[in-house]
Amino acid sequence: MTRRLLVILLLTLPSWAVAATKPNWPVVEKEATTYFQQYLRIDTTNPPGNETAGAKFLQSLLEKEAIRCRLLESKPGRGNLFAYIDTGGKKAPLILLNHIDVVSAEKKYWKEDPFSGIIKDGEIWGRGATDNKNLGIAELMTMLLLRRNKVKLNRTIFFLAVADEEGGSTAGSAWITSEHHSLIEKAQFLLNEGSVITMKGGQPPVYGVSPAEKAVCWLELRAVGPAGHGAFPPFEPSAIQKLMMALNKIQAYKTDIVLTPGVEKYFQDLSKIQLGPRKLQFLKIRESLKDPAFAQEILKDPAFNAVLRNTVAVTSLSTSSAKVNIIPAEASATLDCRLLPGENSAQFVAKLQELVKGTNIEIHPIVLGESSSSPIDTELFRAIAKVASSYDKGALVTTPLLPSSTDSTYFRKLGITCYGFEPFKLTEEQELGHAHNERISVSSFLGGVRRMYDLVLAMQ
Ligand SMILES: [Zn+2]
Repeated sequence: MTRRLLVILLLTLPSWAVAATKPNWPVVEKEATTYFQQYLRIDTTNPPGNETAGAKFLQSLLEKEAIRCRLLESKPGRGNLFAYIDTGGKKAPLILLNHIDVVSAEKKYWKEDPFSGIIKDGEIWGRGATDNKNLGIAELMTMLLLRRNKVKLNRTIFFLAVADEEGGSTAGSAWITSEHHSLIEKAQFLLNEGSVITMKGGQPPVYGVSPAEKAVCWLELRAVGPAGHGAFPPFEPSAIQKLMMALNKIQAYKTDIVLTPGVEKYFQDLSKIQLGPRKLQFLKIRESLKDPAFAQEILKDPAFNAVLRNTVAVTSLSTSSAKVNIIPAEASATLDCRLLPGENSAQFVAKLQELVKGTNIEIHPIVLGESSSSPIDTELFRAIAKVASSYDKGALVTTPLLPSSTDSTYFRKLGITCYGFEPFKLTEEQELGHAHNERISVSSFLGGVRRMYDLVLAMQ
């Protein structure tokens, strides 16, 4: 064939035939759904994690497309998978991060086997369906499609599936960013779990892109007291009674409302989709919060409460004896406290100590973390906004503070701009991470697969 003939032939072909970057979505969707079901069937409950099994599953799919992988085990069975498409492009790399491990599932409370990956009434069931195997497969499909469609990339794409996110990250992101940081330190951007696309009745979709996270402040309260026979209670307060007194004081403590600049912007963004008086109240949130009636109303919403103040949750109780007829000598409780950006954890602990003064309680830190944040005036943020408007006309893209903490904290320490953004549309009832009967609708999952691919294309 002459060169001229070839040019004529190419010009006369329909546009889809020359646009090699456009996947055959119906076929891709079937494939993605199958991989998702298979991945959900691998039990990666942490502890013990067993992430290597999940990592090897992902590795086999990536290597089939000749994508280079490295399986990095921090300990036997605790596998992390690093894969990349190296382009030699001028732009700095983008990391697609997800975690392999899942929290435990109490089978007896589930309507379906949590490791079945079953599809029922248009929903895919399984522990990890929304946290975080859905994101893992969306990112995996992006890698496969980029390679398969020979997409011309201007930046290297890293795929990183990590272990131990649910168990403190010491076998996962903490280890990767300290022992293998040379692999990823050139990266500029990272996409990770965090916020989703929220659907609330009648409102346009809200694309939550979390650039900041609260700090973890995990504490243990310990009490000691006289031990003895349950039939002869001593007059001196027992360890349990001391602990109860301390916990009552802590539960009654109302932390201050603090409006950080990021959260102020978040409310102002939300004002655009509010109706009635809330429109102005949200726009002028700093003023509005001075009105006790408004503040009380807004704090009834756990999501707003969590971004406006430090929170304290009592998460476990234990005693040195579990016998019904023994007064135990020791009692303890754990507190999961989450602190707003800019708060000092030592000062917060001192405040709690002051509160429980006189109860003979000791407070010991378990983990004192730091809050972390990334800038929002970036190429990645603009790319997300572009994808949002192409999928959902009138969608709101905003920046909620994440009350929980994710592995993004470790990567922000390397100077990488990290956003908690999962491109799945979920209603509030569908946000089932860590809950019984975790599942996601097939259409939400597949919408996320498409958006993730388009987002990476928008970053070129
Ligand atoms: Zn997670």
